[in-house]
Amino acid sequence: MTSDRLAELVAAAQRPVVFTGAGVSTESGIPDFRSAGGVWDRYDPSELTWQSFIGSVAGRRRYWDVGRVVYPVIRAAEPNAAHRALAELYRLGRLSCCITQNVDDLHQRAGLPPEAVIELHGNATRVRCLACDAGWHRDEIHTWLEAGVDVPSCPTCGGIVKPRTVLFGETMPRAALAEAERCARASDLFVVVGSSLAVYPAAYLPAHALDAGATLVVVNLTPTRLDARAALVIRARAGEVLPGVVEHVRALKGTTRE
Ligand SMILES: [Zn+2]
Repeated sequence: MTSDRLAELVAAAQRPVVFTGAGVSTESGIPDFRSAGGVWDRYDPSELTWQSFIGSVAGRRRYWDVGRVVYPVIRAAEPNAAHRALAELYRLGRLSCCITQNVDDLHQRAGLPPEAVIELHGNATRVRCLACDAGWHRDEIHTWLEAGVDVPSCPTCGGIVKPRTVLFGETMPRAALAEAERCARASDLFVVVGSSLAVYPAAYLPAHALDAGATLVVVNLTPTRLDARAALVIRARAGEVLPGVVEHVRALKGTTRE
């Protein structure tokens, strides 16, 4: 079994790091918003950029019109077997950190502590005021929308209220990116799960890890540009592979002296 080989690598690593992409979320029923047939086919992404959000009330109205539809999908989703397996690996001391492109909070809801999750594209379940930094859970803002507010603004200072996600055209959160790079370089095992490594900076984080001497593993349904440099490539769903890895790691722990 290829998952046995992955389990052996995870069990032997000093600083295993996992990088998750949209593939992990789609297994929870959250559509890949950037893929063909996704939400962006129904909306024009060029109208949902950082520039249009910041630039005008009309831009923010378009954004929240989409958010009104998309957020309930995220809220209804539950962590899947892959999320639960990664949280369990962390509890077993077999995961240093999880770098993710996903914004759905499902890693945390599965039990990964927030400090072990590095969110490159932010978090859709949190909202903040860009002026005074007041914060809310997205559920609360969603109730405002449902009550008839079309463009939420900060009740305290009147500032622009924005989900903590990274919009098209928005700068990546510098601290998260720096931390992800640090983790990648410090890792001795870097496991890509459910990402085709197509978008920046996904492609170069595993490359950093490789350059620093880490072993690369790719668990993804489709080929990635770094498959050729991977020690192991598993063409399967994360939810089918990772629970087996946990089981095997547990068994290995049971047979070795602590
Ligand atoms: Zn404010």
